[in-house]
Amino acid sequence: AKAIGNNRLRVYKSEYGENASKRTKLLFDLKSALTNKQLSVVYQPQFRLHDKAISGVEVLVRWNHPEEGLIPPDVFIPLAEQHGLICEITDFVMQTAIRELTAADLLYRTVPRVSFNVSAADFNMANSPERFVKLLTALPGSWDVIELELTETSALLNLEGVRNVVNVLEERGVQVSLDDFGTGYSSLSTLRSLPIHEVKIDQSFIRDITQNAQDARLVKTIIAMAQALNLRVVAEGVESQQQAAYLSRAGCAEVQGYLYAKPMPLTSLQSFVKNISSA
Ligand code: C2E
Ligand code: CA
Ligand code: CA
Ligand code: CA
Repeated sequence: AKAIGNNRLRVYKSEYGENASKRTKLLFDLKSALTNKQLSVVYQPQFRLHDKAISGVEVLVRWNHPEEGLIPPDVFIPLAEQHGLICEITDFVMQTAIRELTAADLLYRTVPRVSFNVSAADFNMANSPERFVKLLTALPGSWDVIELELTETSALLNLEGVRNVVNVLEERGVQVSLDDFGTGYSSLSTLRSLPIHEVKIDQSFIRDITQNAQDARLVKTIIAMAQALNLRVVAEGVESQQQAAYLSRAGCAEVQGYLYAKPMPLTSLQSFVKNISSA
């Protein structure tokens, strides 16, 4: 299933990456996708490794195109970033997730943390701090349930903009996670330049830990480093028991991946948490 998924993504990427007219059409369609209710959000639970309790959910956007079907965010998010549409998408994703999770009464007790992916362009405007504050005002309680996931690339592209937002939000309890940790050029300097609370070890490192001793040592070292710096560490893309066992031995506190739960719409999340609590 993984290979098929990856192939499909590769087809998408090359098709849309190299075919300008196809990309133009996609951009055109994306503009109307927001108003035509083609976007939705899914939630992927994260777990504490030692007792399998839910530690949070990551919110991921989905685009169900009327003709093309599901278009992966890896394809349309970069397009949105290049054409000034990312803020609208982020607004939609945050508003929708907060509304859905609040209406289902899942926030705080059942889902203690909600993580959102944000892009460099989300921090470009002078009023970006106010924009985030306004979005989070919809929360029924404390803001310490909220986490923003930044990649090192997005953080470094606009460090000042990110700082302006993070400084304001951090005072209200919002946390920051460094996504895809280890894949960029200066992960360590990013850690120094922003108030980071969590690192997410990129799935490309997790994939081969049971076969590749080098990757395994690298992951172990990232975990040890995170512990030394008092950072929470989440391993993403965990697909096998062997990977989980290794991560557990290496002292990784939290995991996310198909082994535990795939991204799912709200209704499935509701049944999922019900099943866990009755198990
Ligand atoms: P990401 O933030 O690194 O998200 C993790 C991706 O890995 C998600 O893909 C998730 O479905 C997938 N995944 C989770 N567990 C596993 C696993 O065990 N194995 C494998 N092979 N994959 C797993 P998805 O949902 O297709 O999102 C892809 C990327 O698109 C995300 O990567 C993120 O960079 C971006 N993205 C998604 N939603 C949003 C959004 O709302 N805003 C922004 N700015 N970017 C988003
Ligand atoms: Ca992420
Ligand atoms: Ca990631
Ligand atoms: Ca990624």
